[in-house]
Amino acid sequence: SAPKQRHDYQSDVARLRKIVINSLYSHRDVFLRELISNANDALEKLRLTSLTEKEVLSGAEDMNITIKAYKDEDGKGRVVIRDTGIGMTAEELTNNLGTLAKSGTSEFLARAETDTTGTGNLIGAFGLGFYSSFLVADRVYVASLAAKSSRNPEPTQYVFSSGADESSFETFPDPRGNTLGRGTEITLVLKDEALEYLDPHRITDLVDKHSSFASTFPIYLWTERTETVPDEESAKEAPEIDEDEAIVEDVTESDETPKTKEITVEEWIHMNSQSPIWMRDPKTVTDEEYETFYQATFKDYQKPLAWDHFSGDSGSGTSFKAIIFIPSELSNEYWQNPMASNARDIRLMVKRVFITSDLGEDALPKWASWVKVVVDAEDLPLNVSREMLQSTRFLKQLRSIVLKHLLALLARLQENEPEKWTTLQKTYGNVFKLGAVEDSKNRVKLAELCRFATNQRNETSLDDYLENRKKGQKQIFYLADMGTTTEHLAKSVFIEKLHARGYEVLLLTDPLDEIFVQNLRLWKTVQFQDVAKAGLRFGDEEMSPEEEKEEQKKLTEEYQPLLAWLKQQAGDVVREVVISNRLVSSSCAIVADMMGYTANVEKMMSASQA
Ligand code: ADP
Ligand code: MG
Repeated sequence: SAPKQRHDYQSDVARLRKIVINSLYSHRDVFLRELISNANDALEKLRLTSLTEKEVLSGAEDMNITIKAYKDEDGKGRVVIRDTGIGMTAEELTNNLGTLAKSGTSEFLARAETDTTGTGNLIGAFGLGFYSSFLVADRVYVASLAAKSSRNPEPTQYVFSSGADESSFETFPDPRGNTLGRGTEITLVLKDEALEYLDPHRITDLVDKHSSFASTFPIYLWTERTETVPDEESAKEAPEIDEDEAIVEDVTESDETPKTKEITVEEWIHMNSQSPIWMRDPKTVTDEEYETFYQATFKDYQKPLAWDHFSGDSGSGTSFKAIIFIPSELSNEYWQNPMASNARDIRLMVKRVFITSDLGEDALPKWASWVKVVVDAEDLPLNVSREMLQSTRFLKQLRSIVLKHLLALLARLQENEPEKWTTLQKTYGNVFKLGAVEDSKNRVKLAELCRFATNQRNETSLDDYLENRKKGQKQIFYLADMGTTTEHLAKSVFIEKLHARGYEVLLLTDPLDEIFVQNLRLWKTVQFQDVAKAGLRFGDEEMSPEEEKEEQKKLTEEYQPLLAWLKQQAGDVVREVVISNRLVSSSCAIVADMMGYTANVEKMMSASQA
């Protein structure tokens, strides 16, 4: 008899299973998408492994996913999802299904435990999909036969079994033997209140709605229907008659001599036969399809903010189709480590077959590392490796084409979609500033997307600022102080006079703002001018610089005793005390040298030396 092993779930799994079972009932449909996406992952793993180890393909010819729903002898409903993927050994069954090694787990648990309202998609977003089986099943059996390989030359089919209410699970050799050929078979013994999933229409609906994007491999659904066909037996027995007589016979004998019978037809229906959305004509893809595709592919529980779907040509003879997505949120880690998520978010395929989502250094620059992309290239070899790819020019060209489309998409949103643009500014405003500093090639386009608060309005673009220039104004005025508020800056003595005279001054409160203006130095040939620096000129002064100098000299002589006394009093703090014409109602201001650092930059310098 088979040696059964009992294992306790890792503590987090027990916690998680509770949440899944208790809180996510209304989202239980997700189980199917999660199991299909696992099957797809296993098939992708198999295909990639087979490039270097042909042996793994033995055992089963096809690479596909099948779903069968039926009532067993005990009247219990069962849904069986089977794939011919890489499979799992006994050890892998225990490790992969009995423990949680995922980094997102604790975050998920924390969120799910506090928020039980809209968390259905969290399961998928955090990749904790297998446990969603228990949303619909009392008991789950996972039978698996790992692919044959040099490390595992004689695989044995094992079973994982667990009940929804149990805090442990069992593994044992499959009493049926190696029936699978290769891969994994998940049997859900449905809860009585989940018998709706026996209905093939219900499953077809779910696959159409949520899962057709979860797999690039074919998904087949087993169906059974009754058909009425001519009954050959009775046809044979029917007497040969001529037509006139037949009419008479039909009237009198039709009930006794049936000429048809009902038979059962079983069939595997190919469910995801439509081509993947990136291959389709964008005009035929609905917004909802893009959104579901995005959520399933990038495991985001939120909808994307915007997307662009296009065909391209790399210029070195590789044509491709691509969709770029702008997520509605930046991940929390972005500002700590902008490159962390980068490599994973570009899914590269060749002729519909997934190749890699790790493009390493050829991924996008920091400022754009949050963009999600699917690319399907037509003319690359299927067995192309990442190293080979990097030696071609394709990735560099792809990168610049993707950036071009992204910038055009952002400009379109700025132009035509005020609501989305507002959200975009809130989330990505600083990203554009970072980009303008980092990406010299796209600097102008990125700077056009940047917004700044001013003493006159909540925000302006640089172009609008120039439009609003006063006659004769030859500079873009700004005042920067990190960490303060724009309201505070608006009251600063440095802009009193400018404000009174009707000049607009950019109020910069983010460290990036000041780095931005210092990097750009000019916008459309107009210089940025820090109004906190001495020697400021407005451009519409009534006196020439020479006349002003004269005036200044006269006043300085007149007030010499006061200036000397002030200098003596404040000698440790300031280098010089001078007469100024820049103030309106304030009595004095401390300003930086014309050549010196501003207070803000000094703060940053001392911070970086610490
Ligand atoms: P994730 O898919 O995010 O890793 P899941 O809970 O969905 O999390 O699955 C856990 C792990 O179990 C997978 O990473 C994989 O190693 C294994 N697994 C699940 N389903 C299958 C399957 N059909 N074939 C092979 N391995 C599987
Ligand atoms: Mg999964």
